[in-house]
Amino acid sequence: MNIAENSKIILEQVTRAALDAGRSPDEITLVAASKMNSSERVIEAKNAGIKAFGENRVQELLEKKALGTYDGAALHFIGHLQRNKVKQIVGACDIIESVDSTELIDLISKRATALEISQPIFIEVNIGREESKSGVMAEELDEIVAYASEKSGVSVQGLMTIPPISENIAEISNYFKQMYKLFVDISSKKYDNVNMRFLSMGMSDDFREAIMEGANIVRVGTNIFGERHY
Ligand SMILES: *Cc1c(COP(=O)(O)O)cnc(C)c1O
Repeated sequence: MNIAENSKIILEQVTRAALDAGRSPDEITLVAASKMNSSERVIEAKNAGIKAFGENRVQELLEKKALGTYDGAALHFIGHLQRNKVKQIVGACDIIESVDSTELIDLISKRATALEISQPIFIEVNIGREESKSGVMAEELDEIVAYASEKSGVSVQGLMTIPPISENIAEISNYFKQMYKLFVDISSKKYDNVNMRFLSMGMSDDFREAIMEGANIVRVGTNIFGERHY
C-alpha cells in the first residue's frame, strides 16, 4: 500500500459514504491531515487527487508551503493555535479551523485587517466537554459567533470538532449528531460576516459516520499516510 493508493481508496470511501447518506459527493471535502509528512509525501497525495490538506503546526505548514507543496490545493490549519503564531498563519492558509476564544479572534482580526484581507475561520467546539480538549462549549457558541461577526477581517464559515476517543461508534455518532444540530441551529441565525456552511468532523476511524451525520469536511491522516511516529 502506498500514499497514492490510499488516497484513491479514501476518496472512493468518501464518495460511497456520501451516496449512502443520500448526499452529493461533490459537497464533501476530504482534507488530508498531513502533519509530520514530508513535502514529497504530501505531493504524492495531491497527485492522487486530494484537493485539500490540513496542518497542525504553523512552522511546519509554512516550511512545506514555501516548497510549493500545497500549490493548487486548499490548505487548512487544524491544530491548536498559539497566540504568538497568529501573525504568521493569517493569510497563509485558506481556513483556520481551530478558533476557540475571543482573544484569538481579536488577534486574527487585527492581523487580517492590517493585511487588508478577510480570513475564513471555523469555531472549534468541545462537544464532549473534555477538560483536556480545546474548543468552546456548545452553550458558548452563539456568543463567540456573534463576537466574531462584529470583527473586521474575519469571516466565520463553519464549525469543527474532535469528539472524545471511544471504541463505541454509536457514542461517537451521537456526538456528531449533537454537532449537526448545533450547526443547523447556528446556520439559521443571521449574523453579519457569518456564512455558516461547513461542518468539519470525522477522522480515519469515523469519517463514514461523520458523513452520515452531516459532515461536509472530513479530516483523514493515518488512513492516507500511515501511522505517525512521534
Ligand atoms: C491528525 C488530525 C486528524 C487526522 O487524524 P487521523 O486519526 O490520523 O485520521 C484530524 N484532525 C486533526 C485536528 C488532527 O490533528
